[in-house]
Amino acid sequence: MIHDNYGINEKGHLTVCGADTVSLADKYGTPLYILDEDLVRAKCREYKAAFEKYFPSGSRPFFASKALSYVGIYRIIADEGLGTDIVSPGELYTAIKAGFPTDNTCFHGNNKTDDDIEYGIRSGVGYFVVDCKEELYAVNDTAKRLGKVQKILLRLTPGIDPHTFAAVNTGRIDSKFGSSIDTGAAEEITKTALSLDGIKLCGYHCHIGSQIFESEPFCRAAGIMTQFSALIKKKYGYEAEIINLGGGFGVRYYDGQNEPDTDAFIKEISDTIRGVCEKNGMKFPVVFMEPGRSIVGAAGVTVYTVGSIKTIPGFRTYVSVDGGMPDNPRYALYASRYTAVIANKASEPCVDEYTIAGRCCESGDLIGEKMPLQRAERGDKLAVLVTGAYNYSMASNYNRIPKAPIVTVSGGIDKLTVKRESFEDLTHNEF
Ligand SMILES: *Cc1c(COP(=O)(O)O)cnc(C)c1O
Repeated sequence: MIHDNYGINEKGHLTVCGADTVSLADKYGTPLYILDEDLVRAKCREYKAAFEKYFPSGSRPFFASKALSYVGIYRIIADEGLGTDIVSPGELYTAIKAGFPTDNTCFHGNNKTDDDIEYGIRSGVGYFVVDCKEELYAVNDTAKRLGKVQKILLRLTPGIDPHTFAAVNTGRIDSKFGSSIDTGAAEEITKTALSLDGIKLCGYHCHIGSQIFESEPFCRAAGIMTQFSALIKKKYGYEAEIINLGGGFGVRYYDGQNEPDTDAFIKEISDTIRGVCEKNGMKFPVVFMEPGRSIVGAAGVTVYTVGSIKTIPGFRTYVSVDGGMPDNPRYALYASRYTAVIANKASEPCVDEYTIAGRCCESGDLIGEKMPLQRAERGDKLAVLVTGAYNYSMASNYNRIPKAPIVTVSGGIDKLTVKRESFEDLTHNEF
C-alpha cells in the first residue's frame, strides 16, 4: 500500500488505522470520509520534533486548515500543540468554536474585508499575514480604533517557481498574493509597516506553492527571505524576529512519488537560514511553517458504493460511484491523480484500468482515469486513498448532494465527527 496506515485484513478488506473500511461503509453509509486520527497526530509530532531540533525556541508548525476544516480537527491540532492557519472568518469561527487558542493562529488571505479584519482583531488572532499596502493601512486603522496593537507578518513573493501545477504556484512575481521582493514592493511595504503604530511588524511570510517534493525550492526561498531580512536590517536597522516559510510539502498519491523526509527537509532549511544569518551578523529568527496537505492527506480515505459499470467498446469502462465532484473536485479542477482500491476485494489483483465517474450531471465529474482496479461489480465498496486534504474542505452541494460525513479512527476505534448532511440541511436557509 502507498502509505503504512493502509492494510488488508483477513477478510481481504482494505483497512485504515486498523479499521475495516467495508464495515465502516456499512455502518455509516456511503460516500464516507474516514480520517486516521493517529496518523494526523503522528505527522504533527514529526514536524514538532524536527522544529525543536533545528530551529530556535518559539518556532513551530501551523496547520494550514484550509486543507481540512471542521471543529474536531482544530481540537486535534490544539491538543498536539501546533498553531493553525486560517484564511477566512469561517475558518476562524470554526477554530474558535473548537476552543482553539486564537493567539496561536495566522490569518491569511489576499483580500480580507474590513469585517474580516475587525473580527480577527477582536478575536485575538496571533498574527495577521498582511498581503499588501491597502490591507496594511486597514489593519492599522482597525487596530487603533479598537485600542489594540496587532502583530503582523508581511506576505512577500520571493519569485520562485517550484515547478508545480500553475494554479497552486503562488511564489512567483506574477501572483495575486503578496508583495514582490524583486520589484521593490516588499521593501516599500516594510518601510510603511515600520512607520505605523497600530501594528507591530514581527517578520515576513512566503508560501511558494504546493505538492513540492524537493527541498531545493524551500531552501532557495529561505535564503532569499533571510537575505531580504539582512538587507532591511542594514538599510533601516530593523531585524525580523520571525520568518514564516509557508506550506507545500508533497504527499504521495500514487506509487512512484517520493515523499520528502521531514527531518532532513527541515535540517536543510535550517542550515540555509543559519548560513545567511552568520554571514550577516543576524540572530537565527524564529521559524514558522504551514504544512496542510502533509498533515492530513494520507490520513484520509473516501469510500463509495459502486453503481453502474459501462463498457464502451474500443474506448473504456466507466465505473460509477455514489459520490464524485461534490466530495472530491480535485480531478475536475486539477486532473489530480489518485489511487483507488475495491475495498471488499483489496487482496485480489487489479484486472484492468478504469475510469471512475461520479454521479453528477457533468461529463467532467470524474475521480480519475486509467485507474488500475480489481474486478468491479455493482454494490462493491470503492475506496479512494489519500483524500484527507482538500476534499471535505472543498466539498460542495452540487446537484443537491448532501455532504458526506467524517468518521475518525484512533487505535482502530471509529467515531463519527461530522454528521452526514440531510435533505433538510440542504433547504435550511431557504424561504
Ligand atoms: C495552501 C497554503 C498552505 C498549505 O499548503 P499545503 O500544500 O497544503 O501544505 C500554507 N500556507 C499558505 C499561505 C497557503 O495558502
